[in-house]
Amino acid sequence: MANGRTGDKVDMLIIGAGASGAAVAWSLAETRMQILCIEQGDWVNPANYPSTGRDWEMSNQREWAISPNVRKRPADYPINDEESPIAIANFNAVGGSTILYSSHFPRFHPSDFRVRSLDGVADDWPISYFDLEPFFALNDCNIGVAGLADDPALPAHTPPLPPVPLGTIGETMARAFNELGWHWWPSDTAIITREYEGREPCANIGSCNVGCPKGAKSSADVSYWPVALRAGVKLKTRCRVREITVGPDGMATGAIYFDEQGVEHHQAAEMVIVACNGVGTPRLLLNSKSSQFPDGLANRSGLVGKNLMLHPWGNVQGIFEQPLDRFGPEGSCMLSQQFYETDKARGFVRGYNMQITRGRGPVLTARAALWRGELPWGTDHHKVFERLYNHSIYLGICVEDLPEEINAVTLDPRLKDAHGIPAPKINYRLSENSRRMLAHGLEQGSHVMRVAGAIRTESVGPIRMAGWHLLGTARMGNDPQRSVVNSWGRSHDVKNLFVVDGSVFVTSGGVNPTTTIQAVALYIADQIKQRLANLFD
Ligand SMILES: Cc1cc2nc3c(=O)[nH]c(=O)nc-3n(C[C@H](O)[C@H](O)[C@H](O)COP(=O)(O)OP(=O)(O)OC[C@H]3O[C@@H](n4cnc5c(N)ncnc54)[C@H](O)[C@@H]3O)c2cc1C
Ligand code: SF4
Repeated sequence: MANGRTGDKVDMLIIGAGASGAAVAWSLAETRMQILCIEQGDWVNPANYPSTGRDWEMSNQREWAISPNVRKRPADYPINDEESPIAIANFNAVGGSTILYSSHFPRFHPSDFRVRSLDGVADDWPISYFDLEPFFALNDCNIGVAGLADDPALPAHTPPLPPVPLGTIGETMARAFNELGWHWWPSDTAIITREYEGREPCANIGSCNVGCPKGAKSSADVSYWPVALRAGVKLKTRCRVREITVGPDGMATGAIYFDEQGVEHHQAAEMVIVACNGVGTPRLLLNSKSSQFPDGLANRSGLVGKNLMLHPWGNVQGIFEQPLDRFGPEGSCMLSQQFYETDKARGFVRGYNMQITRGRGPVLTARAALWRGELPWGTDHHKVFERLYNHSIYLGICVEDLPEEINAVTLDPRLKDAHGIPAPKINYRLSENSRRMLAHGLEQGSHVMRVAGAIRTESVGPIRMAGWHLLGTARMGNDPQRSVVNSWGRSHDVKNLFVVDGSVFVTSGGVNPTTTIQAVALYIADQIKQRLANLFD
């Protein structure tokens, strides 16, 4: 039991203030119920982002690293990812991992929800693209998404803001895609390109991946949270939840957490919503053991933590003779979904997204070239550097990862966080299907780079430090034996417990997931509101 004072009971307790926790808090605020969100991290002051300092490029190797094991801030918990070729990336703060995300915001395709019916693999989702469609649109408006209407790869939709500029990089690649007759389109991007809801537009400087000091990148702290707080939601920061508690009737009663002084409290709640991401959520559920749930809360199926999907990632770098303008949002300006849908002749099922990103800044350009032995010290240093800096285009390949039970988050028997809470352990391996898909992507990516005029290409994948999409570890479904939550996010086993983050994904799609995660969170919140009268029946 908790040592500290027990907080007054709230109607809804949300755990985690990242992309999904913020969206669900915003949506539920209109119920006027007492809603409290508990977050282990703090607010990040945009004025303190490294992009305001001269060494901004190196900060992502230290206190702004995407790996919590490198960053080691007080809000972070360690993750044992030694038994995975892909290391886990996240950020723990108000806004969660969106503080560091690249804001590339493509939607899942309708086919992503029906892979069993279409391709005979994995499972269909219990909901469809069209169930989520209004919530994709709502999310686009709430956070301010930039893009161009009527991408032929998707059902028609109109982003509220004009797309980020293609620049010379996008134009160079667009010409190559056109020459090959391949699909391309300006990316949907979670960056405001015009003044929007009191926020200033993007200045196209391009340091988004260590936080946007202008607040133009639509991380959840600058988009959803200010509105949710004004609507009456309460947010407690620097409080880490250890476990969700249950009563004798097997219903959730609240959560035990440590405050910033390390004092333990119990927060009582009528219902609990978990939004800790695809690694943090199974960790919390597995740590919530009781006599009713000896294997972890909501885990009668045995599937909590299983079916982890990570999107194996490849990169193709093209080096060009002519200078290119690297300024503009870092994450992406355009994408190609030429190889997104299944074509069995390629030797694999499902497909991948190609994401065009801008070149590296000066320090990272020099560092990579030194590492490759390409940049000499001495008289030729500057001459060679000038030929490399502002002369690169990157193409990221995001491979659809299919669910497999052996890919899992469990509790590490030894590793613990600063509060003594068992840390997550990742066991993950790439399937043969993913390997083939990645090899195909790297080959096609190099091809389009050469058509674009690259004098040299380099490809690499799977990239180790690229576990930034965390999905599938508390999957959704109609069958309680084969899923953790039902089609509207409620635990099959605990009727007042909901999961709203990427853990509920049945499959991973072949694109960055956050717009779909937030659409799912808004959809679940809407279901909760519609069913308030008989929510726990
Ligand atoms: C470097 C990087 C680049 C990315 N780029 C993109 C991109 O371009 N496009 C895209 O779609 N996605 C991208 N992503 C992924 C995107 O950030 C995530 O999909 C999204 O943030 C997930 O939302 P979430 O709510 O599930 O989890 P998160 O946003 O990670 O939020 C979870 C929150 O829960 C809190 N929490 C966890 N456990 C506890 C606990 N026990 N007690 C209290 N609080 C807790 C955490 O502190 C965190 O704030 C990127 C991620 C990274 C790291
Ligand atoms: S390029 Fe735009 S979104 Fe990125 S950091 Fe600069 S202002 Fe922010």
